[in-house]
Amino acid sequence: MPELPEVETVRRGLEGVVVGRRIVEVKVLGRRTVRRQAPADLTTRLVGRTFTAAGRRGKFLLLSLDDDAVLVVHLRMSGQLLHLSGTQRPPIAAHTHVMVGLGDGTELRFVDPRTFGEWFVSSDVDSRGVPSELAHLGRDPLLEGLPTAYLVAHFAGRRVRLKGLLTDQRIVAGIGSIYADEICFRAKLRPDRSGGSLNAGEVASLAKSARAVLREAVASRGSSLRDLRYRDLAGDLGSYQERHAVYDRAGELCRRCGSRVVRLKIGARSAYLCEGCQL
Ligand SMILES: [Zn+2]
Repeated sequence: MPELPEVETVRRGLEGVVVGRRIVEVKVLGRRTVRRQAPADLTTRLVGRTFTAAGRRGKFLLLSLDDDAVLVVHLRMSGQLLHLSGTQRPPIAAHTHVMVGLGDGTELRFVDPRTFGEWFVSSDVDSRGVPSELAHLGRDPLLEGLPTAYLVAHFAGRRVRLKGLLTDQRIVAGIGSIYADEICFRAKLRPDRSGGSLNAGEVASLAKSARAVLREAVASRGSSLRDLRYRDLAGDLGSYQERHAVYDRAGELCRRCGSRVVRLKIGARSAYLCEGCQL
């Protein structure tokens, strides 16, 4: 599932190809992708508009329009946004749910085999450019930083495990299973520790690790897992998976201490960690 680094990579790509472009045509082929509003309503609100900015908050892409509305795109489990230029267009792939034709003759296609992804247009946007539908999201570590005091306030007295707290979008927006495990490893903390058990030094280390891991992952254009589903706008893979310290490495050796990486069950989800050097 694409997390902050993958969505940020797509956002940077969109900045170069959609900003300043007019929307000339929208085709909604998959009804489930456009479910908050009628597909015809989405189409009417987009056609004729021009993209003015490509933003992101957490795992959501926010494409601003020249009437101050925002097109929100959420990739969720398997959504892929592709930009096609060239005169020879590939045939429409299976699971293509939305197609957007731009004024320069190029095209965006949204492919999503599992159909959890979503598109909607919002006109109710606050002064930060965040649609009211996303008002519940917590801090975005790259846009707003992640101060230690903020995490201390949210972790104090909590029995919820670190993995659950880091992936709670109401606290920190953008972190999912991969980066929660990598951040806990970097901070030398077990993901099954309860939030309230961390001292101030440990929370500071976690905040610092979160910023560092996310920045490095963005620099590597995100992580493409074994399913090769995550790709950037041009269809290319990310490379951060080559640097994963623990995620999907059960049975392999920890590069920090030489112990074996294990996979633990934490409630309904799992986490990868090194029991040799994460306390
Ligand atoms: Zn280790």
